[in-house]
Amino acid sequence: MRDFSGAWRRTAEGAGLLDEDGRGIPTIFAEMSALATRTGAVNLGQGFPDEDGPAEVLDAARRAIAEGANQYPPGRGILELRTAVAEHQRRFYGTILDPERDIIITAGATEAIAAAILALTGEPDDEVVVFEPYYDSYAACVALAGARLVPVPLRAPDFQPDLDELRAAVTDRTRVILVNDPHNPTGMVFTDAVREEVVRLAERHDAVIVTDEVYEHLVFDGPHVPIATLPGAWERTLSISSAAKSFSVTGWKIGWFTGPADLVDAVLAVKQFLTYAGGTPFQPAIATALRLPDAYFTGIAATMRAKSALLGSGLSAAGFTVLPPQGTYFTVADAAPLAVTDAAQFCRDLPERAGVVGIPLTAFVTPAHRARYASFVRFAACKRVDVIEDASARLQRLR
Ligand code: PMP
Ligand code: GLN
Repeated sequence: MRDFSGAWRRTAEGAGLLDEDGRGIPTIFAEMSALATRTGAVNLGQGFPDEDGPAEVLDAARRAIAEGANQYPPGRGILELRTAVAEHQRRFYGTILDPERDIIITAGATEAIAAAILALTGEPDDEVVVFEPYYDSYAACVALAGARLVPVPLRAPDFQPDLDELRAAVTDRTRVILVNDPHNPTGMVFTDAVREEVVRLAERHDAVIVTDEVYEHLVFDGPHVPIATLPGAWERTLSISSAAKSFSVTGWKIGWFTGPADLVDAVLAVKQFLTYAGGTPFQPAIATALRLPDAYFTGIAATMRAKSALLGSGLSAAGFTVLPPQGTYFTVADAAPLAVTDAAQFCRDLPERAGVVGIPLTAFVTPAHRARYASFVRFAACKRVDVIEDASARLQRLR
């Protein structure tokens, strides 16, 4: 058969997912979730909760289906949800948005990220600055767009970028500075100094800030500070979020992006040809969710903080050095004290050795940089307390 070397090869390569025979392999999340299912191990790999979100939100989706909300929604998303996003941004961040112009509903944050990168880059010399390790879809989308990925390293133990390295990475070729705050996989929250430097550099080099804030409500010592609220940031910032983590509905794939109308329209021009639109009955349900009282949002942050602390104690007791997160679902543990030098192999063996699945941090970095992160493993704490306790007990076998 012909050699089909289209964009898929570039994308798989960009994501570090091309095997020695030049075949594309599944993402680390698919691989590790399949491994957990096959071995019966406790899955602390892929970040998804094992409990349902708020009952009134689930009921609202059921009601919407029963009431016939089952055909295409408008391309921008239903007005009720865009209005609820505007209310949410005003309530939590004091930002005033126009639901008609400044907000688009997407198929999860994933579609918003893809549409933003495809819309804002295009020439082979265009560069996208990312903080490494990074969420896996970033590198894949940059490769798909034919742009160049410029990683700025985040190093243990605090995973903050070095400001000089950041300054050196951003140039006039930079089209996008892609921020993820709070950060997956490290659980880090950027300092004010880093956020301010990102805005300064974007202004100086006329770049757009694309910021993925899907963990905005899982900051342990809040409040979350959206980079778009910094002086000078709004005009050049596209903010992305999603219902997945805030309401424990990762399978619904309802996300959104917000920003100044000209940037929003540019990204919409691409987004409309990816999914066009979707998730009709989930859209009113997420409008309900975004209008939940403040206590709901502070409650989920406190719960996740407690679960992360519980997981952290189990990991420490098992011999890992824990790098305590400031937010998100995730905790990074250094397995070097357990004599681990290859986290990817360690994670493949972990179900057998201890009955637990985690994700090697090397899955979130460009292949050339894997050595820097070779002993780090990401574990997800978004699980029931008894599941975390079970996983912790199993991990003690490593001692
Ligand atoms: N960005 C980050 C940092 C994530 O961790 C995730 C998924 N967990 C996504 C984007 C994707 O979000 P969604 O499921 O809404 O597409
Ligand atoms: N965001 C989830 C994580 O980081 C995974 C989502 C996916 O499987 N693509 O674990």
